[in-house]
Amino acid sequence: MSNHDYLGVAERMKTQDYIDMEDRYGAHNYHPLGVVIDRGEGQWVWDVEGKKYMDFLSAYSAVNQGHCHPKIIKALTDQAQKLTLTSRAFYNSVLGEYEKYITDLFGFDKVLPMNTGVEGVETAIKLARKWAYTVKGVPENQAKIIFADGNFHGRTVGVISASTDPDCRVGFGPFMPGYEIIPYNDTTALEKAVSDPNVAAFIVEPIQGEAGVNVPDEGYLSKVAEICKANNVLLVCDEVQTGLARTGRMLASDHENVKPDILILGKALSGGVLPVSAILANDDIMLCIKPGEHGSTFGGNPLACKVAMAALEILVDENLAENADRLGKLFRSEMQKIADKNDLVTKVRGKGLLNAIIIKPTPSGKTAWDVCVALKENGLLAKPTHGDIIRFAPPLIITEEDVHWALHRIDEVLENID
Ligand code: PLP
Repeated sequence: MSNHDYLGVAERMKTQDYIDMEDRYGAHNYHPLGVVIDRGEGQWVWDVEGKKYMDFLSAYSAVNQGHCHPKIIKALTDQAQKLTLTSRAFYNSVLGEYEKYITDLFGFDKVLPMNTGVEGVETAIKLARKWAYTVKGVPENQAKIIFADGNFHGRTVGVISASTDPDCRVGFGPFMPGYEIIPYNDTTALEKAVSDPNVAAFIVEPIQGEAGVNVPDEGYLSKVAEICKANNVLLVCDEVQTGLARTGRMLASDHENVKPDILILGKALSGGVLPVSAILANDDIMLCIKPGEHGSTFGGNPLACKVAMAALEILVDENLAENADRLGKLFRSEMQKIADKNDLVTKVRGKGLLNAIIIKPTPSGKTAWDVCVALKENGLLAKPTHGDIIRFAPPLIITEEDVHWALHRIDEVLENID
């Protein structure tokens, strides 16, 4: 029985009632679009009033496999009836199998399981620092981590200390020392920064997702890898959003045949079912962290391990990277045609099924937010970012027909917005 049924109000509650309830009792740290989703299946979701929408956000790329994928839900429910959590105080009968599966799949010696994406990033920061002191020989407390301008790696104090977005930072200081920010997509700046012998790592998103699908120049990541290697600096790729088939390859770094020293995964590692994240690295790096030096009560729990294995198998079995690659190309080329005949859209960009358009305000002052509200009315869910950008990131299971369906809606809305 849900809480609302218990209150006896489920039948009477309408969209606005749910919104009012969240507004009244929840912290105001989000600004959602006015739709209350009640159910999801594949690329579709339904609101509390029964209206159906195509999901073009996929929970910020966590639901790459589609909502409630039956294989993941089966893995979840089967394991939930057997064993959910032991903590790492004891071994469990699923963790080793998962560790073998994921390290084989991505070609690393070891994995360190965590829960949320930001915990993966924090873990990578700690591991890079530990490596700098124990292997590189950086003097104690002098290790430096380089980040790129415009990054988004999550919300902890350790991570927002590297942010350049005022919304993420202002009012939350003092910040973590030991960071340096360089421009994104600028290998000259990286070359200069890594000349400091105390640099442990460069942490970078292969495409900046939250910044508005900021795609760097071709060759950027491979040049970055070359510079890091030449300077004995770890390359850490945050693929929490770009990973797991989203950009048309299993990893976005695969586009340039780059293998990072530390890989961070999250979001779609559970298909949106549980918070599951991980970092992967080889022994010379990963074994710098010793027993008792890092951990998490829930990290590596058997429920998460089963869910993650199912989520990864689906990406492989259903060829979702290939689908994202093919349908992403179709989406961008058709979207560009819409942009060419509608001067509201000033840019179409992306890779695979991680795409965005930039909107300029209409003569009457309508913005990307108004476009998203109109899209919602027209049956398609997307969310604006940074005022003028709309990200389009559907589940990777969508079909060609779905892409045309969505483009038709977008076209209609852009034609009639003013
Ligand atoms: N890293 C990247 C690249 C992200 O896009 C995000 C979330 O959007 C995170 C880290 C943080 O993940 P989480 O919200 O699960 O902590």
